[in-house]
Amino acid sequence: MTTNKKKVLFTDSMGSDGIEILKARGDVEAIAFNYFMKGAEYQSLLKSHAPVHGVILGATPFGEADYAAAGGVEVVARTGVGYDAIDIPAMTSHKIPVMIAGTANSPSVAEQAMTFMLTLARKGPQLTRLVAEGRWADRLKPEYVAVDMFEKTVLIIGFGRIGTRTAKRCLAMEMTVLIYDPYVKPDTIKAAGCQPVLDLDAALPRADFVTIHCPKTPETIGMFNAARIKKMKRTAYLVCTARGGIIDEAALHQALVDGTLPAAALDVFDREPPDPANPLFKLPNIILSPHMAGVTAEAMQRMAVEAAKNVLSVFDGAPRKENAVNPQVFG
Ligand code: NAD
Repeated sequence: MTTNKKKVLFTDSMGSDGIEILKARGDVEAIAFNYFMKGAEYQSLLKSHAPVHGVILGATPFGEADYAAAGGVEVVARTGVGYDAIDIPAMTSHKIPVMIAGTANSPSVAEQAMTFMLTLARKGPQLTRLVAEGRWADRLKPEYVAVDMFEKTVLIIGFGRIGTRTAKRCLAMEMTVLIYDPYVKPDTIKAAGCQPVLDLDAALPRADFVTIHCPKTPETIGMFNAARIKKMKRTAYLVCTARGGIIDEAALHQALVDGTLPAAALDVFDREPPDPANPLFKLPNIILSPHMAGVTAEAMQRMAVEAAKNVLSVFDGAPRKENAVNPQVFG
């Protein structure tokens, strides 16, 4: 059916507050698609609705073939903030803004990083089993005695929207906060009450907790390989809520098996959804969540509202440039 309305295909994982913003607009036709849809199936959906003027993506990648299938896309938006599944150079070459959800889920991811660190320190899973299995008398054995975060040192990798919020929460726990972010001025880090570190390898042996909040880029893939993990204290906890691939999963598995690290926590994986046979999942000293750090009831609504406003801002000729990952397309 032909229509003069701008068509927006949005992921059905999008929060209702954002959908309402789209649907309230008389000049927009909003069409849901399945969160898991990708590749040829997604391209054929785009073709069936072409021209599609805006897309709001959850897990769906977006590249040249999707761009061609949409036949007139003006804006690509994500309900989250990661954009490694989108071909940014291709979109930039077509002058298409790629928009993310700003800080909508940053506090939620920071809270999950804190949850992971606290749960590791307090030996959450081990003590749950101990009580449930009636092993109360074992509770003072060294392997069950928790450690404080108070007066410990945390090393935060990446001092962006999430890293800065995680730092604030760690400072509130009276921790020493080291920051490794080669792209942030040391003075900015010091002004936030943290200590900049310029050499990651030199900082690793100082940290009791390491939490990763940098993007997945060619530079950060495999950043935590076997050699790096070996530089950590044998008592240090490693947490990643950023992206799979930044930690080398095989190296982490080895470190958790041979005692190089006591325990770790992952929200993100090399492959998502991961293979249930992943050997990491058999270990007792790992905590896992299914890429949900940024997903809380409130964050889902905030992200949906941001995504809807981002798309409409482009349609209305007043783009929210601060949420574009390639703002150069606006000239
Ligand atoms: P951001 O862009 O605001 O901050 C990232 C920071 O990392 C920047 O300050 C950048 O300078 C720094 N950085 C870049 N390369 C680095 C390197 N080689 N070493 C150290 N620091 C480096 O991003 P953000 O919103 O804070 O998100 C951080 C990460 O969290 C991203 O990978 C994002 O995809 C991920 N994320 C995950 C979830 C989830 O649900 N698990 C949700 C949101 C974001």
